[in-house]
Amino acid sequence: MTDSVKRPFAGAIVEYHGSIPSLHGRYRTDGPCHCRHCLREWDEGIFGTEARFELASADGVHLEHVRESSITVIEPAPPTASG
Ligand SMILES: [Zn+2]
Repeated sequence: MTDSVKRPFAGAIVEYHGSIPSLHGRYRTDGPCHCRHCLREWDEGIFGTEARFELASADGVHLEHVRESSITVIEPAPPTASG
């Protein structure tokens, strides 16, 4: 089982194919979603059944609260340079 390789960590290039066809395309993941819905869930110790992500396109389009099932990883995130 090596599916962790395909997880859309921050910096990964992904294809969005979710519920908004006009926004389909390539994005870079910005990491876990920080919208107010998610922040409130974290505050209350509730975690959704599915991870949500923030995405940013090269054109400056920003998507939030995107389901993991709505994106496909094209290029995994580069290794972090820290350390
Ligand atoms: Zn969210």
